[in-house]
Amino acid sequence: MLSVLFQVALEVARDRFTGRNFVVLNDLGRKRIQQMKIDSTLDKQFEEMGNDHVSTSEDTPLRSDAFVLSDKEKIERIQENIREVMLTLGLDLDDDSLKGTPNRVAKMFVNEIFGGLHPDRKPKSSTFSNKYKYGEMLVEKNITLYSTCEHHLLPIVGKAHIAYISSGNVVGLSKMNRIVDYFAKRPQVQERLTIQIVRELQRVLKTEDVACVIDAKHLCVNSRGIRDIDSSTVTAEYGGKFKQEAVRREFLDYINIDTNF
Ligand SMILES: [Zn+2]
Repeated sequence: MLSVLFQVALEVARDRFTGRNFVVLNDLGRKRIQQMKIDSTLDKQFEEMGNDHVSTSEDTPLRSDAFVLSDKEKIERIQENIREVMLTLGLDLDDDSLKGTPNRVAKMFVNEIFGGLHPDRKPKSSTFSNKYKYGEMLVEKNITLYSTCEHHLLPIVGKAHIAYISSGNVVGLSKMNRIVDYFAKRPQVQERLTIQIVRELQRVLKTEDVACVIDAKHLCVNSRGIRDIDSSTVTAEYGGKFKQEAVRREFLDYINIDTNF
């Protein structure tokens, strides 16, 4: 960076009194210095933002060309990029233990831990009519959740608890696990994940009366940075009747039942 600056952004001036030549920053040089200051402030802001896990939107930020490449093409390209990262770190990719890693990681990104980015993998959520006329809330709790923090690409591991009150439609119980899993398999922030699960179930069940609570550990907090292994993060999204204190309380009481079989 500095060499570029010296090449183009300096000019030679002559001191009027001593007659000696000296170099000064020209306009371009001053602009470049200014830009470098802005860049380093932005770098710092992004880093702090990442550590604070700020979420910007309830939709996963996807590019318009997100699905132009096939999964196979993505794996090939990511494999090359992971290889580059490992080589840059100084690792010997001829070593038997490491040579398969770029391909393994690329397949894992596309097919598994970020597989929920692809709309084709969204669970088909067929509903059934509520034949039993069951009118109370239904709670599916302790749904195991594995996701990935989008600021550090480190695991989020936790439990999701979901409830809904039927407006005439019901879904199969395992469908709720599948919806959690689909949205979890993306680079995520926990707040967005919670909201996305609720919105999808509201859409499928055709009711506002859906709630979700997630309690999860973020390895970026537990294993690096502040390194607090005991802390976990709780997020909640309450729709429709769950905004009422008594309904919300009932849901939270069910979650707190100690289920031992
Ligand atoms: Zn993180």
